[in-house]
Amino acid sequence: MPHEIGPLGVFTCSNQSEYTAFVARHARMLARVAANEAEAAKRGHFHTTGWCAVCGTRSQFIMDDSSSWLDANGDRHLNWRERLQCVGCGLNNRMRAAFQLMCGNLRLEPSRRIYLTEQTTRFYKALRRRFPKVVGSEYLRDNTANGASNFAGIRHEDVTALSFPDGSFDCIGSFDVLEHVSDFYRAIAEFARCLAPDGWLLLSAPFNPQFARHQVRAVSLPDATIHHILPPEYHGDPLSSEGVLCFYHFGWSLLDDFRSLGFSDARMALVYSTRNGNTGRLLYFVIARRGRPLRASVDGGLADAKGGGRRPANGSWSRALWDRLTG
Ligand SMILES: [Zn+2]
Repeated sequence: MPHEIGPLGVFTCSNQSEYTAFVARHARMLARVAANEAEAAKRGHFHTTGWCAVCGTRSQFIMDDSSSWLDANGDRHLNWRERLQCVGCGLNNRMRAAFQLMCGNLRLEPSRRIYLTEQTTRFYKALRRRFPKVVGSEYLRDNTANGASNFAGIRHEDVTALSFPDGSFDCIGSFDVLEHVSDFYRAIAEFARCLAPDGWLLLSAPFNPQFARHQVRAVSLPDATIHHILPPEYHGDPLSSEGVLCFYHFGWSLLDDFRSLGFSDARMALVYSTRNGNTGRLLYFVIARRGRPLRASVDGGLADAKGGGRRPANGSWSRALWDRLTG
């Protein structure tokens, strides 16, 4: 019997103006978060505690300065998103939040069919323990055919041409993949095609809430060469030491892209939880649904339109966070 997982407190925004209103309304709280972050950067290596949704218990989350960077003023910024690694399950901040959003907020039962655009990761292994029907894949470069698996049992999928029949999944999770796909519109349309009606899409990718539109860093030309508009940025690749090129840093128009490519609604979920050890900076996740609009309320977590009186996430995170920071 899998352990019970409650929802993460989230704030959801449908567009940039809702985000601007959120920032104005919570300016003092966000300033406190930034001050905490700057103070923590001086400490370098430490741990926090909280409830890990993956382990189902209180745990410690290790923070250090690996993958940190210096800004133009020489101030160090910690990589909160990829650190805060749980000593129990080994999952980082971003992965633990994604796990809890799937299980606690979207309330996916273990029998649900899930597709993940990763298979060689700790996150995939953790999800498979809870969802036996999960299907994972990687973008292999060893001539494995689309939809087939290689000698190591790793499935190959091209997200712009998925091999799955229409409506195959109840949820698709894609984390830090979309920015590497030159024709990401086709990937979004493929995600919509492969989801059942009412199916959920949960996605993360580099996102800058100051951007109305996407920052295009590189383009793939018809002759398959790459034209760099900004200095090339390569991200870690589980299958290669060379890293993989980042084409985009996304802006708010990403939600419009989802709405115009087969999703009935799309929101940006903002995550920050001291209770669950998702701290340092806000995490951003796109949550989109195929076929049914999300309820139009904000500040109360996510609930579907037909749910009526179903509970929102436990309080709004804004209030929970405010209480902890000021209390
Ligand atoms: Zn854990």
